[in-house]
Amino acid sequence: MRTPSTGREIILEAVAGETYVDRDTGEELEVVARLLPLAPSPSNLPWAVENLRVCNWCDQFAPRDLNDCPTCGRRMTPIPADAGQTPASQTAPVAAAEPAPATPAPTDPTPPAAG
Ligand SMILES: [Zn+2]
Repeated sequence: MRTPSTGREIILEAVAGETYVDRDTGEELEVVARLLPLAPSPSNLPWAVENLRVCNWCDQFAPRDLNDCPTCGRRMTPIPADAGQTPASQTAPVAAAEPAPATPAPTDPTPPAAG
């Protein structure tokens, strides 16, 4: 990771979803490189968030191109088909704007007072 202003680079084991800032400048670090899985890994995808899934058995991250979890070794459930898998040719026609009855939502944004 690199500090934008100073160009100082550090290597750390980052956790997905976390934001890292430079210790001196307080700037948000930008990711400039990612490590690939080690050689023994059966996956050839970079160990990045977009290539990972969560094992349904042990809740550990596993590369998306694997069928068996590298952590617990069990067969994971198939990934539901999403972008990149299904052709976008069959798009359901959007229903014509039918006059929906204007019902005000009775939901109150404030949670009920607990005690
Ligand atoms: Zn697992």
